[in-house]
Amino acid sequence: MRLPGYCRRFPKGDAMKVDEAFACLGGALQAGRLAQGYIVEGPLRGEGMELAVRLLSLLFCEKVETSGAPCGRCRGCRQVVEHTHPDILWLEPQKKSRQISVEQIRDLQSRMYQTSYGGGWKAGVIVGADRLNLSAGNAFLKVLEEPPGESLFLLLSEAPQFLLPTIRSRCQRLAVGRDELRLPDTWRTQLVELLVESGDGRVEGGRIVAIERSTARLEALLKEVKQAAALHEGELAEAESTEESDETLEARIAARYRELRSGVLRALLSWQRDILLLLCGGAPSLVYFAEQLEVLTARAGTLSYPQAMANVVAIETMNRKLEQNLPERLVIADTFHRLG
Ligand SMILES: [Zn+2]
Repeated sequence: MRLPGYCRRFPKGDAMKVDEAFACLGGALQAGRLAQGYIVEGPLRGEGMELAVRLLSLLFCEKVETSGAPCGRCRGCRQVVEHTHPDILWLEPQKKSRQISVEQIRDLQSRMYQTSYGGGWKAGVIVGADRLNLSAGNAFLKVLEEPPGESLFLLLSEAPQFLLPTIRSRCQRLAVGRDELRLPDTWRTQLVELLVESGDGRVEGGRIVAIERSTARLEALLKEVKQAAALHEGELAEAESTEESDETLEARIAARYRELRSGVLRALLSWQRDILLLLCGGAPSLVYFAEQLEVLTARAGTLSYPQAMANVVAIETMNRKLEQNLPERLVIADTFHRLG
């Protein structure tokens, strides 16, 4: 049986190693087919940044080696690493608001249209691109629509789902080092317990009790995630010793919570995709929840293909509704009712 499209876009198989992604970009550059914009999905202090720096070094290296790798020693390479290259513009969220403002984008725009110092490429790098606020996002879209010649935009993000869809559709996406973005073990364990139980038809009290229990468990997990977000942002604010209004801190916590929650939601989706994959005869080595292969296989044995597909769609719909800030509790309860 042919695998449906879903099975080819597995969260696990999706992410590449930095070496692979770099080879891919190097090839595109050599063939003159580098895209105007790339969304680099990966840790900002890890593989995501590493890939960006390697690609930029390749663009600005003065002595590219015969292997096609940047030399790593010339002035160009050094300036890339030190963030001092005159033809690379780095943008980061402002410290206080944690947002990228429309003024920052306007500045980027005007500087990208100036002639490059080196007479070649110019690059704009947005670190934490999901922090573009709406007006900044729209302003950036205009830049992407009419990009200056020989220019490259890199959008680094750990949560690209928060980028405007219009920006996403104009950029190519590269995911690297996804394993770094794995759920913390305690959350993963709680989620697995919930998932194993939620599909178990033998829960005392029947289906409705089981649904109520799963809903309550997911809510409890998300409550923990919210507390972690508050703790993290509170500590950060303290470390930066910025004097923030309560409102700003609240906004930061809410943004962090959405980021962390999206990891939980992705994992929920992976569970349903795992079942679908096994149902389609996909290789067990491809499942995301490898430690639960037995449960997943049993589950796949009780579902029809349309049911398994409907479950995937139900979780995707839930994730979309939650990203639109619809009431969490209602959305979750409704979704568990729909799952077959
Ligand atoms: Zn070099």
